[in-house]
Amino acid sequence: MSGVFGCFDRTGAKDVAKDMYYGVFSLQHRGQEAAGIAVNNDGTFLVHKQMGMVTDVFDEITLSALPGYCGIGHARGGSDKSTGSDGIQPVLIKSRVGNIGITCDSVVLNADIIRDELKNLGAIFQSGTDSELILSLFSRNRISTDDCEHAILNMMKEIKGVYSMIFMTDNKLIGVRDPFGLRPLVLGRAGERYFLSSESCALDAIGAEFVRDIEPGEIISISNDGISSLFYEDKADRVADGHVCIFEYVYVARPDSTIDGTEIFESRYSAGRALAKEQPCDCDLVIGAPDSGNAAALGYADSLGVPYGMGLLKNRYVGRTFIKSTQGQRELAVRMKFSVLKSAVKGKRICIVDDSLVRGTTTKHIIHFMRENGAKEVHLRLASPQVRYACCYGVNADKIEDLPAHTKTDKEICEMIGADSLGYISLESLRASLKNIHCKQCSACFDGDFIAGKPEGCEE
Ligand code: SF4
Repeated sequence: MSGVFGCFDRTGAKDVAKDMYYGVFSLQHRGQEAAGIAVNNDGTFLVHKQMGMVTDVFDEITLSALPGYCGIGHARGGSDKSTGSDGIQPVLIKSRVGNIGITCDSVVLNADIIRDELKNLGAIFQSGTDSELILSLFSRNRISTDDCEHAILNMMKEIKGVYSMIFMTDNKLIGVRDPFGLRPLVLGRAGERYFLSSESCALDAIGAEFVRDIEPGEIISISNDGISSLFYEDKADRVADGHVCIFEYVYVARPDSTIDGTEIFESRYSAGRALAKEQPCDCDLVIGAPDSGNAAALGYADSLGVPYGMGLLKNRYVGRTFIKSTQGQRELAVRMKFSVLKSAVKGKRICIVDDSLVRGTTTKHIIHFMRENGAKEVHLRLASPQVRYACCYGVNADKIEDLPAHTKTDKEICEMIGADSLGYISLESLRASLKNIHCKQCSACFDGDFIAGKPEGCEE
């Protein structure tokens, strides 16, 4: 999981680096391991990228060394298989048909097969990353096509997987959303400056207006000639078969973003209200597991008529826990991340509302902290159903054995995490909370229906 951002200024103003910086910074919640920005400076591609948070990677000096009227940027998550400095994006190459840069939020399911085929044709790879593979495939297709868009289209027919990608060529910015639209991608505009972003919150941050979501299977091209689109197969079929990741609404996206017609905060609040109807709790105080549980907790408390309050404090300088690379790192991160407001919870029956229970590590510690600080009872309510399947598309846990809901009953999980009671929203109610959404949703981590297929070895 990661965040992608792109910008094209049709006036040719060569100062997009600052907008790029604030755009990528606003997508930091999608990935905190590495960051990078590349720009097109009149045909010379320049890049700065390294491991670390966006604020650590860039400063005034590095940004001033990136003059350009077009740019692409990336915030990489820890669950990305391209760990280490080799896989930091954007990735740039010089091909027979010019400069090409890419930034992508992707999981290519048939990557090993394609890589072997390309190697047999003489291709050389420096890393095992999707971005390098996609560029290699694109370059090969570009030789036999009239334009970049048709090279991308041909490439999309060869790769199986989920992705939002942004290409930068010598004269274009090209955004691509996978045929099922599992990963989000939006178009924004500020005057003659156009933007592509994983989420709309990045547009708000730089004062750009949201124009629209990129459709599933759409290849959108922005250049001095205007904006045009090409579709993978038939546009109507693609739009009708769009399946955005439902976890974007549950956990991944920022609450101030809007994806495929649905406001994230509103959807979480509505899910909280529905959860209260399905799984009420006799409690004195409802608290949200910060930050992605807060909106659902507010809806839950409002629906029950119980006070909603602060009970957990979050250290904002620790990254999201399920995207740390090892279990040991995750446990330490939870201890660093949360502290309890003793005066708020002491002697009370507390109901914690969280967005989801993936591995349970974070939740177990939070419940333990609550009891340590004098809570009389600690109940847990979850604004998503049981996570029973590992996501093959790189969003939550990689391994099915990490998921307690795959093998344990609700009662066993309740005992494992030390809660007094446990309740989940139904998938039906979660879907109903996504008001105004104009596509279907992937919910495979709840129901096992992997719409975009599965890679070899992906566990049931
Ligand atoms: Fe999202 Fe779950 Fe589908 Fe993965 S399996 S893409 S986390 S809904």
